[in-house]
Amino acid sequence: MIPALMPTYARADLAFVRGEGARLWAEDGRRFLDFGSGIATSSLGHAHPHLVRAIADQAAKVMHVSNLYRIPQAERLAARHVAASFADSVFFCNSGAEANEGMIKAMRRTMAETGRPERYRIITFEGAFHGRTLATLAATGNPKYLDGFGPKVDGFDQVAFGNMNAVRDAITPATAGVIIEPVQGEGGVRPAELRFLRELRAMCDEYGLLLGLDEVQIGMGRSGKLWAHQWAGIEPDVMSAAKGIGGGFPLGAILAKEHVAKHLKPGTHGTTYGGNPLACAAGNAVLDVILADGFLDRVDRVARHLWRGLLALKERNADLIEDVRGAGLLLGIRLREGVLNTDLQAAAVAEGLLTVAAGQNVLRLAPPLIITEAEADEAVMLLERALARMREAAVPKAAAQ
Ligand SMILES: *Cc1c(COP(=O)(O)O)cnc(C)c1O
Repeated sequence: MIPALMPTYARADLAFVRGEGARLWAEDGRRFLDFGSGIATSSLGHAHPHLVRAIADQAAKVMHVSNLYRIPQAERLAARHVAASFADSVFFCNSGAEANEGMIKAMRRTMAETGRPERYRIITFEGAFHGRTLATLAATGNPKYLDGFGPKVDGFDQVAFGNMNAVRDAITPATAGVIIEPVQGEGGVRPAELRFLRELRAMCDEYGLLLGLDEVQIGMGRSGKLWAHQWAGIEPDVMSAAKGIGGGFPLGAILAKEHVAKHLKPGTHGTTYGGNPLACAAGNAVLDVILADGFLDRVDRVARHLWRGLLALKERNADLIEDVRGAGLLLGIRLREGVLNTDLQAAAVAEGLLTVAAGQNVLRLAPPLIITEAEADEAVMLLERALARMREAAVPKAAAQ
């Protein structure tokens, strides 16, 4: 019989009852170090007192009113995001897919309202992940996710990640712009070269196209800067955000320059929940922490420490690890052929460490941004034990052959 909870996930048999910082406690009393953050989302870790208080206080006042009224919490959050970024205006929604869906609409609408309605197509990249709605699936382009859902939404042209010639070849008179993750998360923790991001920006300027960034996973401090594109010294025309911006409370956002934002006016786009007082109270509390003096510098420092630890881990375990990659606190361990990322993930759980699998046989580490260097060291130690556990498990199998 089908479970009451629709079985769209192959879930681990673990249920957590409590968290604190980078720690989670399961029903059976086991304690874990959380280097998954609920897929790069619990940016402040668990039960962060400032975030907890902001949500509790706001919930006791008013949670939801709809966008038929002014929402001071949303006005304040938008103004703070504008002050801290390239953007002139922000639209709030509830998830990453919704933010991307809105970003795609904003790009198409901008073209339509500036005399170029034939320009509706968007260039995306192999290995991308933009969400599970019909349009964001088409932008994602992964046949595995598209199969059985009818005709793919038209308007997306996918090219090889990092290949500038392929991008240029894909431009047609129907092209509106490009959408790229500065660091591909689900696709295997693959950073775009900073030079490639700069070339995309220059190419969009040259052809009058829009540059859209999907910073749902790498954004909001995870790269060590507030937004990952800052490392390349470029600005997009429009950007999607979600995951970390609510610290675990569902919140998404489209951040845009005025020349894009002004085309989303009353009647063109909307949401019932999006940017409600409760979600924006959470968003403001997360910003309080991330924008505090020295916080992002500390993220950068801990990230470099973890990176060095992982490189040393790779040296000691070169029989199993092929490569370490990523940026900031979104790091990936690519395993050698025949060594499965999901097996290492399970072995890590047995050692008390939570991680997330990603594409290209990569084990993804996306700890809360508040981790200490000691917690980074502990994760490396637990990974080393997990690798040893895998080696032991492989021996009897080989012997039996
Ligand atoms: C997770 C993710 C999404 C989708 O976000 P949801 O909140 O699951 O809809 C989109 N883009 C990127 C880069 C992501 O990592």
